[in-house]
Amino acid sequence: MKVAIVGAGFCGLAVAWNLLKRFPDVTVTLYDKNGIGGGASGIAAGLLHPFSGAHAKLNRKGFEGIEETKQLLNIASDALNEPVISVNKGILRLALTQLQEGDFKFCAKNHPNETAWLDSDECQKLIPQCTAVPGLWIKDGITVHCLKYLNGLWKACEKKGAQLVIQSIENLQVLNTFDQIILTIGSGFKYLPELKLPLTFVKGQVLELQWPLDIPPLNYPINSNTYIAMKEGNQSCFVGATYERDFSHEFEDIEIAKNELLSKAIELYPPLKDSQILKSYAGVRVSTPNHLPIIKEISPNQWILTGMGSKGLLYHALYAKELVDNLYNQ
Ligand SMILES: Cc1cc2nc3c(=O)[nH]c(=O)nc-3n(C[C@H](O)[C@H](O)[C@H](O)COP(=O)(O)OP(=O)(O)OC[C@H]3O[C@@H](n4cnc5c(N)ncnc54)[C@H](O)[C@@H]3O)c2cc1C
Repeated sequence: MKVAIVGAGFCGLAVAWNLLKRFPDVTVTLYDKNGIGGGASGIAAGLLHPFSGAHAKLNRKGFEGIEETKQLLNIASDALNEPVISVNKGILRLALTQLQEGDFKFCAKNHPNETAWLDSDECQKLIPQCTAVPGLWIKDGITVHCLKYLNGLWKACEKKGAQLVIQSIENLQVLNTFDQIILTIGSGFKYLPELKLPLTFVKGQVLELQWPLDIPPLNYPINSNTYIAMKEGNQSCFVGATYERDFSHEFEDIEIAKNELLSKAIELYPPLKDSQILKSYAGVRVSTPNHLPIIKEISPNQWILTGMGSKGLLYHALYAKELVDNLYNQ
């Protein structure tokens, strides 16, 4: 079986790996206009836990998603011979508003094995100098180094014979020698309105800030209405992300990112007040009305997988496996 996958983000690579594992005689060709991690996956903050979203409710299929993702993280780490996640486990969701306080306390009460409600002193013990408010501690929260993870997973696929072609696919006719075509093109679906998919597109921008020289790096990411996560190497941190529903292009616009993110970051972690902006990044999240991904056969032997929203890390492995199960059972 010859399979073409278009899109080398979390979804495309997870589909590739599952195909290569499941079908001994498959050949997989991965197409991407920008290369591995050239879309939203390459700039994701890397926060992996099942209580994402403003209200910290347990995400549907959250625990199953985590288990599948962990397997792929291990495969990527083994392929690179080094971890693709941060050594410290845990993510702190600081409660800046009364609404967050109510939601986060509720989460801690309902999920005492996975989370804990911490007072402001306890939060500051975990993250010295963070703003003095209480918060939700997500004990097993994982920070993934996304590009490293994607490169590791790609290496594992390549070892099993997959090929990468850097090419923009504008017309599926060019892939007509393949037995199956799988589209995992993320924001690329915006340019295929004829598929009539119920998708919304939300641009997210991120700032990379110089980490203050005299301050030790954060031991854990902070996640509230904004997130702050250390970049690997601890010289800088990522602050994100904007939620832009109306956007005229997908590229960075540092003024918008600065206006929206900088003051929120300083509110969470005041020592960032004089930090220099090193860079900005932009990507587009693709969401569905029920906030769960879509797997669909759009025509015979042509499949799509998309709609990961802000939970690509949580859902990509689980849904990629489901798509490959569908192919296997055909
Ligand atoms: C700023 C930001 C922060 C985020 N942080 C997190 C986080 O901490 N945790 C989390 O779980 N999720 C996070 N997300 C969401 C996550 O990034 C997405 O859910 C996920 O990346 C979607 O993966 P994907 O493979 O569907 O799409 P993408 O990663 O966008 O991959 C699509 C690929 O298709 C390629 N492509 C598109 N059109 C074509 C074409 N015509 N021909 C060839 N190639 C094409 C693109 O180059 C791209 O590489 C974040 C998103 C953003 C924007």
